[in-house]
Amino acid sequence: MSASLMPNYKRIDLAFEHGEGPWLVGTDGRRYLDFGAGIAVSSLGHAHPALTAAIAEQAGRVMHVSNLYRIPQADALADRLVEASFADAVLFCNSGAEANEGLVKLIRRAQYMNGHPERTRVLCFQGAFHGRTLAMISATGNPAYLEGFGSPAEGFDHVPFNDLEAVRAAITPETAGILLEPIQGESGIQAADPAFLQGLREICDTHGIYLGIDEVQTGMGRTGTLFAFEQAGITPDVVSVAKGLGGGFPIGAVLARQALARHLTPGTHGTTFGGNPLACTAGLVVVDELLKPGALQRIARVGAAFGAMLQEVVAQAPEVFDEVRGTGLMRGLHCRLPLSEVLPAVMDQGLLAITAGNNVLRLVPPLIVTEEDCRLACARLLAAAKTLIPASSSPSPSPRDARIAQ
Ligand SMILES: *Cc1c(COP(=O)(O)O)cnc(C)c1O
Repeated sequence: MSASLMPNYKRIDLAFEHGEGPWLVGTDGRRYLDFGAGIAVSSLGHAHPALTAAIAEQAGRVMHVSNLYRIPQADALADRLVEASFADAVLFCNSGAEANEGLVKLIRRAQYMNGHPERTRVLCFQGAFHGRTLAMISATGNPAYLEGFGSPAEGFDHVPFNDLEAVRAAITPETAGILLEPIQGESGIQAADPAFLQGLREICDTHGIYLGIDEVQTGMGRTGTLFAFEQAGITPDVVSVAKGLGGGFPIGAVLARQALARHLTPGTHGTTFGGNPLACTAGLVVVDELLKPGALQRIARVGAAFGAMLQEVVAQAPEVFDEVRGTGLMRGLHCRLPLSEVLPAVMDQGLLAITAGNNVLRLVPPLIVTEEDCRLACARLLAAAKTLIPASSSPSPSPRDARIAQ
């Protein structure tokens, strides 16, 4: 690994030559079944023919023009996202953290324009992850991410996840909105209870504050619906997406109702790269694939089958795995052994997974995986578990066998 790169990542010493669908071929010559998808990003798998063709074609025409001009690809992608969701308007950007920044700015600006300049605070949750910008490390609230970076950005309060009473108690006249992940990803695949999300909607309505949902990881079909919040039957005011939206090409977006969106008038916000022709071309291919009839239902079906298979993995290797978490194709396996042992063993079997907090192995495959791919992943998880179980904990001989042995 080059010392010319800043040392902020703890990289695994493995690089990839190319990929195809859910497979990656390492420079070590091995084929890996990719159930990490570059942290839930490569939603259409690797080298997807329609995605690569569209990107190549657009790159050959024009990649970037800036938001000084009309961008037909952005118009088209925004139209599709609006048609398919609660939103009335879309703002494009380049990453998840940037989408969350836009979401918070939109909440504050709308409160300000509605005669509530005092409402600037956003209520967030313990265990959250919203990105690494100066404001988003404050929204995340994890002391390890804040250490050494000066005073935390003002305006973010934290309460326990899935605790409506704590939310009610934390709301003040300065509260502008609430921001949460429907399934906390980085901190170990912790789902919000549907009743919690419904309660937050009620609280927001009662207090005239906005409900913001961070769907950067859960969105774009990951949980079997376009957005995870849909499964709780609620409608948010503003949503951030990124990771899976470009299928590997960097793009993020903020989706909002008109009540907020109309306040982002010229001069209030902007980005040079956001929503450029190339990024939106990639996003359009991904959204087209997800909105094909039956596509989301297929993801939900494969995801449910994957969940059942993982339960079986837990049943067969309880010494290593003790709990299945998550929904659809966003899954976690809580481990009884340290991830520092489990992950290398899993990779040795030719399966890529990623870690999450609280000793959870995260499995977020490309959304194009089949039940057969999931079965193979589970077989590899079990094979990895076998290599980890110490001989002493293998089933002891029955008393009869013991007697025979004497
Ligand atoms: C990954 C992630 C982010 C940050 O996205 P970046 O593109 O890395 O800035 C924000 N929120 C959630 C829920 C995420 O999973």
